[in-house]
Amino acid sequence: MASEEVATTVCADADQEAAAAAAAAMKEEGGRGKRRRRRQPRKGEEEGGRKKYALVSYHELPEYMKENEFILNYYRSEWPVLNAVLSLFSWHNETINVWTHLLGFMLFFGLTLVHLGQYFPQVADLIGHLSWPISKVAENVSSNIGDVLSGAAMFIQTNPSLASHGTAVASQTTRWPFFVFLAGAMFCLLSSSACHLLSCHSHRLNLLLIRLDYTGIAVMIVVSFFPPIYYIFQCEPRWRAAYLSAITAAGAGTVYALMSPRLSAPRYRARRALLFVGMGLSGVVPAAHAAAANWHEPRRNVTLAYEGAMAASYLVGTAFYLARVPERWRPGAFDLAGHSHQIFHALVIAGALAHYGAAIVFLRARDEMGCPAS
Ligand SMILES: [Zn+2]
Repeated sequence: MASEEVATTVCADADQEAAAAAAAAMKEEGGRGKRRRRRQPRKGEEEGGRKKYALVSYHELPEYMKENEFILNYYRSEWPVLNAVLSLFSWHNETINVWTHLLGFMLFFGLTLVHLGQYFPQVADLIGHLSWPISKVAENVSSNIGDVLSGAAMFIQTNPSLASHGTAVASQTTRWPFFVFLAGAMFCLLSSSACHLLSCHSHRLNLLLIRLDYTGIAVMIVVSFFPPIYYIFQCEPRWRAAYLSAITAAGAGTVYALMSPRLSAPRYRARRALLFVGMGLSGVVPAAHAAAANWHEPRRNVTLAYEGAMAASYLVGTAFYLARVPERWRPGAFDLAGHSHQIFHALVIAGALAHYGAAIVFLRARDEMGCPAS
């Protein structure tokens, strides 16, 4: 619906260009063009209409798509949504950007399924609570998965012995902070992938998807705080609530600030990065608190190594994003493969996986220790 409106706007521009080109052609042909006025090529289309929506160079892009002047060629410009979707399977300068985060999404989706199976009783409990309102709305539907899961959760609730015998999980430490992280990571990676795939369609969709992409990054940072803060401070609910509320508020504020179209402009690249880096680095405060409080905990070094790897991956990735290296050194040489944004994407996945490793350690540690009786 929106895309049709946008297509009208794009077509309006194309029509103006077509009219100007037609006038010039007619002048050249001394008016002979009146009778056999040719159909004017659309953007990216070769004359004769054989090759529609060809890739274009940086200089042929509309202003809003000029994001990185060191990537010279292989751009898709104002393609219809269907062509943009199908370009998932062809080479252009966003192919690797799309696939790195799409594969990352699939990886986290697979991990989520593995853990859902592993921790099924607790998750069925959570989904059971969520699915009751859904099943009320959909009461005319004879069979739906929500009812099945609600039933499963009810069954487990009324047979608590099954929860402890159903899996190898010994403790009943809640799993939702861990799954919040997995869900947020999937949201971030999928919205990034969609942004890279489809933002070549039109200015309006470009702005919408870029904001979705920023929201995904903010969500990823916020949810990354959930497993460590929740499990480390599980027995200190005030600290837990304070840290989780603070990072959630910072995330909401960042998303609000980034909704301004001005901040989406390429020249604000550094300010945007600074907002995200600031959010991420604020984790140093609870990390220092946790390290001091658990100094003699044997797993301290393992979790610090994981979280150090995560921080290094994100920071080095951000440095590539800002410096636009290596394409800055040889413009045009890294258009298809090897440019900074692809390196940034790969490091985001590496950072998320390192954090996943740390989250598993925090979860298992709390499973083993529980909370001392007060
Ligand atoms: Zn990206």
